[in-house]
Amino acid sequence: MTIKNVVVIGAGTMGNGIAHTFAQFGYDVTIVDVSTEAVHRGLTAIEQNLNRQVKKGIITEELKIATLERIAPSTSLTEAAVNADLIIEAASENFDIKTSLFKTADAICPPHTIFASNTSSISITSIAAATSRADKFIGMHFFNPVPLMKLCEIVRGFSTSDETYSIIEDLATKLEKTPVSVQDYAGFISNRILMPMINEAVFCLMEGVASAQDIDTVMKLGMNHPMGPLTLADFIGLDVCLSIMEVLHSGLGDDKYRACPLLRKMVAAGCLGRKSGKGFFSYA
Ligand code: NAD
Repeated sequence: MTIKNVVVIGAGTMGNGIAHTFAQFGYDVTIVDVSTEAVHRGLTAIEQNLNRQVKKGIITEELKIATLERIAPSTSLTEAAVNADLIIEAASENFDIKTSLFKTADAICPPHTIFASNTSSISITSIAAATSRADKFIGMHFFNPVPLMKLCEIVRGFSTSDETYSIIEDLATKLEKTPVSVQDYAGFISNRILMPMINEAVFCLMEGVASAQDIDTVMKLGMNHPMGPLTLADFIGLDVCLSIMEVLHSGLGDDKYRACPLLRKMVAAGCLGRKSGKGFFSYA
């Protein structure tokens, strides 16, 4: 099967990065969000990011123009989905929103259309079960910023067919990403390993093992991490970290995934990291 027409649902951080990447590699993309303002914000971000790529000599001015010309804006999934070969959903991290979008697309898309979700923590198997094509449903978990980050976790739901998997694996390679095959368990690989590490760093801080600065210094200089775990938590958002720990705890049923009480307390206090101006560190 040849994939040509791609519909990206959601024009936020991930959706605009995904649309940008597909268009840059020659796919026709329609980007869908709830309002013209949201779509416009996404398109503006794409243009700014393409300009940055041109400035750094990563792409040419011609490729930038061609990329922008391949992206069509839309606020109507029902119109956009009619000719889609692939729907990739990067809407807000909410089970009801995602299932409702895929149910709508399922009723409209041709039988060959593959459905992919960029969810970072919701079960691919359970979203797929809301559609009539669980065999054609898969997770494509990209990383932020999508045009730069080389990894794509490809998540096989319980019913994902081998054919769907190999089409999507091949597609990720065409986008110059490194695909990694993952079974559908909470947190996939990335968050299953990353979040408990961040959570343990918060426990160290809560128990007075060391200061936030020193915890980060140990992981940077001792383990060669480019960023300390607490700085990274501030970057991701403490609320996002907490919700992923809760998914790990409930999905895997082991108390080793229990969220650190200090993490909970900081989220309750509105200290969410960079986006709120204060987390483990302060941001003026
Ligand atoms: P975001 O909040 O920046 O963007 C979400 C967009 O979805 C918004 O523009 C919103 O208007 C839109 N949306 C909501 N409901 C919609 C609907 N019914 N139809 C169309 N659009 C709708 O969020 P994000 O950070 O881009 O995350 C999107 C998805 O990607 C989430 O599932 C998240 O877990 C996942 N993800 C995020 C990251 C990250 O680093 N931010 C990394 C990997 C995966």
